[in-house]
Amino acid sequence: MQRTKSNSLHSEALHHLVGGVNSPVRAFKSVHGNPIYFDKASGAIVTDVDGNEYVDFVQSWGPLVHGHSHPKIIDLVYQKMQNGTSFGAPHIGEIELAKRVKQRFTFMDKVRFVSSGTEAVMSAVRLARGYTGRDLLIKFEGCYHGHVDSLMVNSGSGLATFGIASSPGIPKDTVATTLVAPLDDEEAVEFLFKEHGEDIAAVVIEPLPANNGLLVQRHEYLAKLRSLCDEHGSLLIFDEVISGFRFKDGSYGDMSGVTPDITALGKVIGGGLPVGAYGARSEIMESLSPLGPVYQAGTLSGNPLAMAAGIMTLDLLDEQAYDRLEELGQLLQVNVEPILEKHGNPMRLVRRGSLFWFSPGSDNPPPRADQIPSNAGVLYSDVHKGLLEKGYMLAPSAYEIGFIATVHDEEHILGMVHALDEVLTELEVK
Ligand SMILES: *Cc1c(COP(=O)(O)O)cnc(C)c1O
Repeated sequence: MQRTKSNSLHSEALHHLVGGVNSPVRAFKSVHGNPIYFDKASGAIVTDVDGNEYVDFVQSWGPLVHGHSHPKIIDLVYQKMQNGTSFGAPHIGEIELAKRVKQRFTFMDKVRFVSSGTEAVMSAVRLARGYTGRDLLIKFEGCYHGHVDSLMVNSGSGLATFGIASSPGIPKDTVATTLVAPLDDEEAVEFLFKEHGEDIAAVVIEPLPANNGLLVQRHEYLAKLRSLCDEHGSLLIFDEVISGFRFKDGSYGDMSGVTPDITALGKVIGGGLPVGAYGARSEIMESLSPLGPVYQAGTLSGNPLAMAAGIMTLDLLDEQAYDRLEELGQLLQVNVEPILEKHGNPMRLVRRGSLFWFSPGSDNPPPRADQIPSNAGVLYSDVHKGLLEKGYMLAPSAYEIGFIATVHDEEHILGMVHALDEVLTELEVK
């Protein structure tokens, strides 16, 4: 596969854009080679500037549950575009999308739209702090919530102490309001509540952590977070930016039988245009400006084109679509597991619906970030490169998950499994 044009665009980009990219993980730093410049994309297939085609399992990192340039989504956006690209004033699309969100997130009375997942979580945190009048947050090692200052925090300094920032530029005082606990550990959270309970505004978690591998949590664990929040008057925030709208049975909160106070959404909700949202019961949401004192605003919030893409995306996500996603996910699972076994299980598949991850090593996939083998990236970067050469695109990082879209078909899935078999064989020969 030739990537001459891609490589030359990347060299040029390096002069103008930091590392040539506008979001770090696109840079291919943890795998072999340079980023690939896309020219166009349709359905499950992306075409790069050199004319190579790939079956795409990244799908813009989650938003494109119906694949690239779905004709019905494009049509509605185009139709709305004729009436103006941004109003800075209310329009019917906001009501329409809010209704569709509430159908799936039944514990939300009110929704506020923003323009990214980061903004959604950041605003949900401010709302929780404003509503409770408290400052402290609990977050979990291995959960990503966008690049929100107060949530870009790792542990590493022990449980009794506060976390340290994952990035320079975050003030110590900001980090000092964030407590970090490992996932899958009730006692750690109990301890934090025992020490700081009265000051904890919110517990923030991805109920299905999907940004550091796919770290499936036990129901009892999520239920424990709920009861600790209730006991101490803290709010439970579910960050469903990735997991939201991925499951037939509704929110991941519904599926796990645990109801959060505030939910943050992104990705699928905008169908490939910039949308984020957060919502909760009225009592909490009414603390927000213009009804309440907690301020949050956005010039492009509720943008009519973005609302249109979200509306059509959710309308297309009917029962059949979810059944199709599950069917394709199962097809991947039943075919890839014997292949991995044949190769001595160099990695394991973890799958929930249309979300999947190749967990490194032959052990059972872990529920905690610190249990992922530290050499996770070594095999993955070779597998990633091998699959690319055969026309299959996975995320350029061992810790990122894969996405199945309704437009994938049997051939795409089985083709990827076959290619993986070949790649693993080639790696063994080396
Ligand atoms: C992607 C993601 C975010 C950040 O969303 P952006 O739109 O990239 O700002 C936040 N939380 C979770 C769980 C995510 O997966």
